[in-house]
Amino acid sequence: MKIGIMGGTFDPIHLGHLATAEAVREIFMLDEILFIPAARPPHKLGRKVTDEKHRLAMTLLATRSNKFFKVSDMELKRTGLSYTLDTMNELHKTFGDSTELFFIIGADSLADLSKWHEAKTLVEKCHFIATTRQGVDIDFSAVKKFFGATAVEHIHRVATPGLEISSTDIREKIRRGRSIKYLVPEAVEEYILREKLYDDR
Ligand code: ATP
Ligand code: MG
Repeated sequence: MKIGIMGGTFDPIHLGHLATAEAVREIFMLDEILFIPAARPPHKLGRKVTDEKHRLAMTLLATRSNKFFKVSDMELKRTGLSYTLDTMNELHKTFGDSTELFFIIGADSLADLSKWHEAKTLVEKCHFIATTRQGVDIDFSAVKKFFGATAVEHIHRVATPGLEISSTDIREKIRRGRSIKYLVPEAVEEYILREKLYDDR
């Protein structure tokens, strides 16, 4: 089994996440993509994150029409900070050691990977797929220098459709009373409006 992991705050989940996950699934011939909403991302401690029940609900709505997409609440159930290493260890326990895990990250995150908790151990345990937009490349020499030989085998780069969408931008649009149509799945748009999320005017 080859499982892709899409982790994120998903506050809210948007078409950038979904299109990227689907492209990576096909390119790497993954059996499924597991979306794992993060509890309290260590790098986002400064910002108030929307209640996890809403982020989980939106992730479920967004992924329900794709039979290869699954959602896990494992990080939400965990207490304390959520580290990717803990998640990978838990997944290896669930799926067995022969299952290969592919953690999907944006190119921007790849530059910071060396600063992640237990980064070197993490890169040995699972694969990383860094998604870049056509023409935009990452400085891979710094990554190689830090991670050494494992980097070449376990860190992959792939060009995916670069949808210029971010959750920050969507939250900002809602705050200004602007449309978020075609940026999130319809069901997610309806959910946001119904629950009055991000509308702190
Ligand atoms: P925020 O604006 O709050 O930081 P975000 O849009 O970056 O939110 P996250 O939940 O932080 O979304 O992202 C989860 C993962 O998805 C990260 O690895 C991030 O790099 C990736 N990602 C985010 N937006 C896109 C996009 N438009 N296309 C491809 N990947 C994306
Ligand atoms: Mg982000």
